[in-house]
Amino acid sequence: CGIVGYLGPRPAVPILVQGLERLEYRGYDSAGIAVLNGGGLVVEKSAGKLHVLKSRLNGNLAGARVGIGHTRWATHGRPSDVNAHPHLDCTGRIAVVHNGIIENYQELRQELAAKGHRFISETDTEVLAHLVEEFYAGDLLQAVFKMLPVLRGSYALAVMSADHPRELVGARQDSPLIVGLAAGETYLASDIPALLPYTRDNYILENGEVAWITPGEVTVYDADGSRKSKEVFHVAWDL
Ligand code: GLU
Repeated sequence: CGIVGYLGPRPAVPILVQGLERLEYRGYDSAGIAVLNGGGLVVEKSAGKLHVLKSRLNGNLAGARVGIGHTRWATHGRPSDVNAHPHLDCTGRIAVVHNGIIENYQELRQELAAKGHRFISETDTEVLAHLVEEFYAGDLLQAVFKMLPVLRGSYALAVMSADHPRELVGARQDSPLIVGLAAGETYLASDIPALLPYTRDNYILENGEVAWITPGEVTVYDADGSRKSKEVFHVAWDL
């Protein structure tokens, strides 16, 4: 039920884990992260509370500078390690986290399976990683743009790719997602408290908006691909 993303010069894992801790109030049954480490994606995820994930991480992956994290409140598929997010595509080079419900996931899954995609979880979310893979032709942002019109339902999502180590893509429809702005680094989160230790300047994404993120630079697009100028929302209050 929570999303965090980080892209910048600092170690990503502690930022992702702390961000997820600060979203615990939203409730969850599983947690996981994906980070880019040595040219490939590494996923750690498990059913249960964040301390389970933390003990699995055990201080490892300290070199990672980009990643996405998720706390799951299961809607499709029981709480389990396999059903926890992030979910990967067939190549293992694309990772997705998602809050919400993809209502047409069964038909999408059938279509993708007919094209040779293999699924390992019971979630609606897993189709997203395979759709990005299916639409990917060298440009991660364009693959996400091609995917969004085929989705029915609600989503906040974050996408990363081992082939695009300096990029994250976020998108939202009926589930909250914000982009945290700081010098030389960028964050994604479901809600402001997750990012308060790091930044008070945010873009609050609206329905249909897509954020293309590079370290310290963010471009927000409408669903039709036109660029939007966003106002920075500055958080003046403390928790
Ligand atoms: N529908 C997704 C699942 O069950 C995401 C649930 C959530 O918002 O955490 O895996």
